[in-house]
Order: sequence, then structure tokens, then C-alpha cells
Amino acid sequence: MPNEAQPTAEQALDVDDRVGLDTFEFDEEPFITVETDLCLECELKPCLYICPTQVYRWGEDGLVYNTEGCIELGGCFIVCHDLGNRAIRWSYPRGSRGVQFRYG
Ligand code: SF4
Repeated sequence: MPNEAQPTAEQALDVDDRVGLDTFEFDEEPFITVETDLCLECELKPCLYICPTQVYRWGEDGLVYNTEGCIELGGCFIVCHDLGNRAIRWSYPRGSRGVQFRYG
């Protein structure tokens, strides 16, 4: 008997649906840090567009970020260093912390 809380293979899930099924063990040790002063002069700000869970956003005073929903793709680090101002320092959360993928 299928579990009603789990999506079936026939259901189309968008990114928000998929991320909503994942669980996160918050790491109080910061695994992403951003030298946000460099962001003020960043022309393209690609971090705002690459992250499917929108860890980065532009606030009134500049870049703000929240790593609690990070799914650890590392794309932000790559685009920041290739197209941005090399402001992001990124590593994986410590062992057993971070995202646990549940579906896809
Ligand atoms: S890409 Fe890097 S330098 Fe540019 S706004 Fe994002 S974090 Fe800052």
C-alpha cells in the first residue's frame, strides 16, 4: 500500500516541492561565508540566479544569505569565482550535518 505522504512517480514536482521533501541538519559552524563588501562592486551578481533554493538575495544594504536551505551544489562558489568578485568561501557542512535528500 503506497504511503500517501510520499509523491508518486506520476506526479510532476517543481524545485520547491523537491526541496520541501529534503531534511536539513543545521550546522552552527558556518560552512559558507561571504565577504559582502566585495559584492557591492559585483557587476553580474550571479549568485542571485544560480541557487535553486535562493540562499542569496539582495537586500537594502547589499547581499544577504541564509545557508539553512543550502542543498550543497556548490554552484554559487563556482559562479562567484568565475563571474563575480570571488567573495564566497564554501565548504561542505561537517559530517552528518547539512542536507539529506529524500526525493531526487
Ligand atoms: S557573485 Fe559573489 S561577489 Fe557577486 S554578489 Fe554574489 S557573492 Fe557577491
